[in-house]
Amino acid sequence: AAAMVFGLAACGGDDSGNGGGEAGGGEAAAGKIGVILPDTASSARWESADRPLLEAAFEEAGVEYEIDNAQGDKQRMATIAEQMITEGVTVLAITNLDSASGAAIQQQAEQQGVQTIDYDRLTLGGESDYYVSFDNTEVGRLQGQGLADCLGDEAANIAFLNGSPDDNNATLFSEGAHEVLDPMTQYTQVAEQSVPEWDNQQAATIFEQMYTQAGGDIQGVVAANDGLANAVVSILGRNNAAGQVPVTGQDATVEGLQNILAGNQCMTVYKPIEEEANALAELAVALVNGEEPQVDGSVEDVEGDREVPSVLLDPVSITRENVKQVIDDGYQTAADVCTGE
Ligand code: BGC
Repeated sequence: AAAMVFGLAACGGDDSGNGGGEAGGGEAAAGKIGVILPDTASSARWESADRPLLEAAFEEAGVEYEIDNAQGDKQRMATIAEQMITEGVTVLAITNLDSASGAAIQQQAEQQGVQTIDYDRLTLGGESDYYVSFDNTEVGRLQGQGLADCLGDEAANIAFLNGSPDDNNATLFSEGAHEVLDPMTQYTQVAEQSVPEWDNQQAATIFEQMYTQAGGDIQGVVAANDGLANAVVSILGRNNAAGQVPVTGQDATVEGLQNILAGNQCMTVYKPIEEEANALAELAVALVNGEEPQVDGSVEDVEGDREVPSVLLDPVSITRENVKQVIDDGYQTAADVCTGE
């Protein structure tokens, strides 16, 4: 596949990503910002995009900060949160591992006068003061539309491999995809399952069962992110069907973009994480400085009977035709994407 990949426009152009921003003139703030990311395995984004982009945003703002990763462990996230608060964090942003553990952390924080922000995932029934994310229902709509564009008008059996049942985003992705695909009567939905903790190994096992149960009669798959998509592609590959069954994805990871260029994945959803990181930094810095942050609107917490003031950003659909956009944006480099094995 390497030669084919190199031949594509996405891999041909110059690779001048990552233009740095101007040095910021943020005045010294009187507090400290803590961020706890969820894990490393459910998506490459957390360590390869969110962390460095958040660091850059906080550096530019000239604010004190600390970023840690809970490594998929809820207890560990709670312990990190406690430590951060003890060490003087006054604004705490988390990407929860599930709503219950996230809500407990936010309650603790609130009791100690620490303001909290939900980063990317809304904590249902939580106490977060603000929420920063992408429009996650729209992410799902892009996946549904992307699959439909790859499948066309012919009759097809489709399957859904959803994200973690504990992640409110996964619910929204699935809702968005269904919103687009349910009215399309040429498609028959033959299977739908969630993948606990977005675990890629389990995703492969779950999809293998789906595929076997359907007697291999599946022509399209809504996979909620690039990791799950890759698990599906690997199972399809074992059944000599990779490249024949369109699969969706999300996160514009190196692996996802390579699967797209190799013809094994139909699309991914690119979320410019720099915008999300910058939005979090702006919000958190305002809070640290005791100012009222700017938001776009609010999101309903369906379990908490509350509206959370929010910044929601726009996701972008990426297919073979516009992979180059992700590289031109500096989100991935041509060097990484275009290295075939
Ligand atoms: C994020 C996705 C990510 C997934 C797994 C979701 O909450 O929005 O970008 O792929 O979690 O980490």
